[in-house]
Amino acid sequence: MAYAVISDVHSNLHALESVLKDIGDRGIDEVYFVGDAVGYGPLPDRCLDLLRDNCTVLIAGNHDWAVLGFTSIEYFNENAVAAVNYTKEVMSDEHLEFLESFKLVKSCVERDAFFVHATPLNPENWDYLFSLKDAAVNFEVFRQKICFIGHSHTPVIIEQKSSGEMLIHKNAAEINPGSRYMVNDGSVGQPRDGDPRASYCVMNSHKIEIVRVGYEVRKTQKEMEVVGLPSRLIERLSYGY
Ligand code: ZN
Repeated sequence: MAYAVISDVHSNLHALESVLKDIGDRGIDEVYFVGDAVGYGPLPDRCLDLLRDNCTVLIAGNHDWAVLGFTSIEYFNENAVAAVNYTKEVMSDEHLEFLESFKLVKSCVERDAFFVHATPLNPENWDYLFSLKDAAVNFEVFRQKICFIGHSHTPVIIEQKSSGEMLIHKNAAEINPGSRYMVNDGSVGQPRDGDPRASYCVMNSHKIEIVRVGYEVRKTQKEMEVVGLPSRLIERLSYGY
């Protein structure tokens, strides 16, 4: 049975709605979320309602933890800090409590999969995978066939063959019996690979696929303008940076 993996929604309701509709249109009813429900965008509570209704697994990201006060925001830039402060102001206590229930990591036996926002090695450090060397270290940390991550907002599929050789796939990869995989599904609500369309991942028994879905960017941007979120955060949605 196919399933979907989504992440980095960042309070962008229209992007999330488009992605969930696309998932539904494919007849997929199992969705895993790998972190950053909130931050950057205008409608955190509405996005959390949809995630609650649609996702089997909910993983916390650094922006989620920042809003909860669980992680330092020293390394956040001023726009990200402004968004964290805005998010804290507008979220209901009930939604904050729900966000608190998100896990740092999760393994799923039936999928032979591991889920984490940043890296399996030190999830709470919120490190980025910069190289295949970083990936090789992380392949040693989880035991499952596949690990799903988010965080960089840039989709990529890394395959490690049984020989140790590693390959990078951009949009899709066949699932080979001897190989293991690390997959970044990209970002639903703030893509950064130059393509403004929302990004997520569809998995079936033989293939990993990165899927792109257009949404009404302008609608989200207008909502951001109304609540006074930083212009840099509004503009970047047009370009996917
Ligand atoms: Zn993020």
